[in-house]
Amino acid sequence: MQGDDRTPSRSDTGPATSPLGGPAPGPVAEVVTLASDLIAIDTTNDGDPDTQGTERAAAEYVAEKLAEVGYEPTYVESGGRGRGNVIVRLPGSDPARGALLVHGHLDVVPADASEWTVHPFSGEVADGYVWGRGAVDMKGMVAMTLAVARGLRREGVAPPRDLVLAFLADEEAGGKLGARWLVEHRPELFEGVTEAIGEAGGFSIILPAGRNPAIVDQWVRWEPGTAAGPGRSTSPARVVASPLRRPVVFVSCAPADQAWAD
Ligand SMILES: [Zn+2]
Repeated sequence: MQGDDRTPSRSDTGPATSPLGGPAPGPVAEVVTLASDLIAIDTTNDGDPDTQGTERAAAEYVAEKLAEVGYEPTYVESGGRGRGNVIVRLPGSDPARGALLVHGHLDVVPADASEWTVHPFSGEVADGYVWGRGAVDMKGMVAMTLAVARGLRREGVAPPRDLVLAFLADEEAGGKLGARWLVEHRPELFEGVTEAIGEAGGFSIILPAGRNPAIVDQWVRWEPGTAAGPGRSTSPARVVASPLRRPVVFVSCAPADQAWAD
């Protein structure tokens, strides 16, 4: 019998029940709170330079949640006031291995509250769901990443390889004042990264008739198609072979007869 063993376990890292109801381990319950809090921070990115810069509050929130458990996150504004990004590295046990980057964006596309049954920036938890703009794209994943990072730190876990976590600005308007700025101006933050995981790959899509999914795995760069607006690209993207970029994998939607590389 181990009745007096009070060694902290996963179930000690949060409330015994989930805000969604029923028992849940700490990190799961924490995800709900983190996602709800993040949604309640309006980080609308409408592509207009005069109104951009809303990511700062969300980035500061993320940095605070990381610092709370002992991380020393780096806050960087990427080429514009308020374009907040947070990057943190969790050292792995084998420094010889390449680092893994897990990245998510903090901005969201605009939402018209009159079209919603809940306020898009309420972060309301109801009917077993967290509601609001960005719940899927992609504050949900940001919250999961954050919860896992906090759990690893609390439990003193060193992953097999360095983990670099990046919480980014400006994805919805193309990433020029977010990921691209950071790669060009602060490459040391991504030192040793050999693979990356982002939002593409975790959700299903319905393809219009006449289009096929395509997986591209070669030396390429990404050229978005003509966009109808931030986050609403309607035309197929172009993928162009380039010796200047690292190999990457994209899954996208293209006309069945489209040539993918030239
Ligand atoms: Zn997204």
